[in-house]
Amino acid sequence: MAKLILNHVSKDFGTGGRLAVKALSLEVREGGFLALLGPSGCGKTTVLRMIAGFEQPTDGSIHLGERLLADAANMLPPERRNMAMVFQSYALWPHMNVADNVGYPLKVRGISGERYRQKVHEALSTVRLEDYAERRPADLSGGQRQRVALARCLVTSPDVVLLDEPLANLDRHLKKEMEETFREFHQRSGATMVYVTHDQSEAMALASDVAVMSEGRLLQVAAPADIYARPEGRLVGGLVGQGAILSLAIPDGKPRLIDWSALKTIWREQGSKTAYADILVRPEDVVADADGISCRVDSVLYEGERYALKLSLPDGQILRAYSRETVKPGDVYPVAVRTAWRL
Ligand code: ADP
Ligand code: MG
Repeated sequence: MAKLILNHVSKDFGTGGRLAVKALSLEVREGGFLALLGPSGCGKTTVLRMIAGFEQPTDGSIHLGERLLADAANMLPPERRNMAMVFQSYALWPHMNVADNVGYPLKVRGISGERYRQKVHEALSTVRLEDYAERRPADLSGGQRQRVALARCLVTSPDVVLLDEPLANLDRHLKKEMEETFREFHQRSGATMVYVTHDQSEAMALASDVAVMSEGRLLQVAAPADIYARPEGRLVGGLVGQGAILSLAIPDGKPRLIDWSALKTIWREQGSKTAYADILVRPEDVVADADGISCRVDSVLYEGERYALKLSLPDGQILRAYSRETVKPGDVYPVAVRTAWRL
């Protein structure tokens, strides 16, 4: 196993439009778990297919350690990359039992006998399905079927496991269960994983690093907590987590993390300034404060453990906040903002 390296990778499908992937550089450390996050059509699947060997980059290069997988002139075929790709549909053989489904890639490679049985058993125990070896896919739950698909991709001991929105069609409950399965699968298998999703909460919950893409470009790659606390730019700020993006006149040279006393001053002097900056305010940093800025409650959404509030600032801009007490639309609601982040 080794580090997966994408160096200035571009993909032009030759359709005359923009590039599907533009000069994307990225490293996934051995055993790492990277989520590729971005809106539909931003190029995530294309990146994954280039890593797997189903598409060739038109520029740049892809390496696994020292080994060149592909560039514009060279292309190692998928079957020689020792990678496994998991799709949204599990594509299990309905007429084969679980063990035969999992062992199928070994059969194709001509592996049989004791080695075959041992590998199938190992793969099944990694996804905790040892006791289901004889069952048919039709007799399993959706989550169990997905675990069979994972075991099947693991059975050949791939260096890299590629997953393309595997949870996209699941209901919320099963999604949470499967997120835990994926995390555990990563820990137990030790495989390097690249996980494509358009769902930011999934990316944040699962991966050790999140790479945010938009329109073929990589905007930021960092640990989930860093992406959340220090997003680079308006696109990442809007894509990851909840919050409101305000336009405020910020004096030059201010630190990017802005505290309440600085914010109060900025708000007071708002009218006299001309240069505006985008400021991200997370709802958990907006707290009720009788001495704060007087907002009006626009709407209230009950979320079970709390209320999610949409507030209007005096200048008409929107803030989002959480409250444990019930408030009504139209109420006056003065708030303080603990911290804000200049995008
Ligand atoms: P995502 O997975 O993020 O939704 P894709 O990688 O599937 O995005 O697509 C990125 C862009 O590349 C889209 O504009 C899509 O239409 C285009 N694209 C993807 N595959 C092909 C292809 N085989 N031929 C032409 N254009 C393609
Ligand atoms: Mg896709």
